[in-house]
Amino acid sequence: MRRRRDRQRHHRRGAQLSRFDVLIIGTGHAGVAAAIHLRQAGFAGSVALLGEETELPYERPPLSKDYLAGAKARDDFRFRSADFYAERGIELIPGERVKTVDPEARSVRCASGRTITFGELVWTAGGRARRLPGAHAIRTLADVDALKDELASASRVLIVGGGWIGLEAAAAIVKQGKKVVLAEREERLLARCSGRALSDFLAARHRAEGVDIRFGGPSPDPADFDLVIAGIGIEPEAGPLLAAGAEGGDGVAVDELGRTSLPHVWAAGDVALHCNPFGPDRPIRVESVQHATDQAACLAKAIAGDPRPYAAMPWFWSNQFDLKLQTVGLSHDHDEELVRGDPASGRFSILYRRAGKVIALDCVNMVRDYVQGRLLIERGTRVAPDRLTDPDLPLKTLVD
Ligand SMILES: Cc1cc2nc3c(=O)[nH]c(=O)nc-3n(C[C@H](O)[C@H](O)[C@H](O)COP(=O)(O)OP(=O)(O)OC[C@H]3O[C@@H](n4cnc5c(N)ncnc54)[C@H](O)[C@@H]3O)c2cc1C
Repeated sequence: MRRRRDRQRHHRRGAQLSRFDVLIIGTGHAGVAAAIHLRQAGFAGSVALLGEETELPYERPPLSKDYLAGAKARDDFRFRSADFYAERGIELIPGERVKTVDPEARSVRCASGRTITFGELVWTAGGRARRLPGAHAIRTLADVDALKDELASASRVLIVGGGWIGLEAAAAIVKQGKKVVLAEREERLLARCSGRALSDFLAARHRAEGVDIRFGGPSPDPADFDLVIAGIGIEPEAGPLLAAGAEGGDGVAVDELGRTSLPHVWAAGDVALHCNPFGPDRPIRVESVQHATDQAACLAKAIAGDPRPYAAMPWFWSNQFDLKLQTVGLSHDHDEELVRGDPASGRFSILYRRAGKVIALDCVNMVRDYVQGRLLIERGTRVAPDRLTDPDLPLKTLVD
């Protein structure tokens, strides 16, 4: 009761506070999860969630799916209400962008000139969409609001990039009766993250739905379109931490608890360069809701005094047309790709193996394989390829 009163007092004073026991930078999936898990773990100190966006924190996946398609309204995908944060003494500080971090003074300085000091700093600043001149991006609610404003009167749309976001946008927009050209500079879709079988399947399905997919260069002339969207990946927002001396490069390096090389500075989510227990033998970044949420939960528990190494099974999903795509595990450095079931049926899975072990599955409308496949990955069972690809053998029966 006392703890709750204290938190509420902190909240009332929050607008003036210039020091927080835990200052979280970034109000996306990782930042919000960190704040909530701190409280769930019983952390009673002051907590602030600071971000440059002015919106009440929201989920990103609907931006390229239901929100772009018009099936969800703006307020349908907020993580929590403003009251939720207030009741837990989580101070929201919107509209502030951190420019510099001073690890010795334990302070951050914002673009507005405001300086805030911290006991622990949690850096969950995600990534910034790579932009092309004159093209829309799909990273923030503001991006998609601007895009939808123009889309209403557009009839020819060019999407640059055949990754998950480009494909989801193509599916949402072609369904609105627009002419959609999707330009991918590689020779196949999802070249960065999935195998050939899924690329080929998705290319065929998008073409059947009316998306004009063009591989290789040169990209079509943007002047021939009413609207251009770039879905060409993100740059991790690590600059202020790297400038302050944190180790990293393509992101901020963290250990198994989420600690950076700077004392009292932690990081999680899209920005975190980490050794994933299910990934290859080198640090990687993982861009998914699961990773952002689970890694942030891990560091929050560690701050609250319950340190346990990050060991969550990676998973990811995407929806395009009536396709429910689900991925479990990480397919980096796979040396074999096995197709289970018939892609022509619209229900199949792809199993990725490395050195004979299943390391990941991409499942298309195959929830059962997705659920059971994680066991194969967890146990590292070696199974003969002809048994793995036999759709009549449930995957759970192949596990030791
Ligand atoms: C359109 C879209 C669809 C997606 N769909 C899926 C999906 O279907 N499934 C899935 O698993 N994943 C999906 N993802 C990926 C997933 O949303 C991300 O992995 C997740 O948002 C990462 O969370 P994060 O908290 O690390 O970063 P972010 O969500 O990027 O949040 C970072 C926040 O920090 C703020 N910030 C950045 N720099 C600063 C600064 N210097 N000062 C203050 N604030 C700052 C940003 O404004 C942002 O609000 C999708 C992503 C997008 C963009």
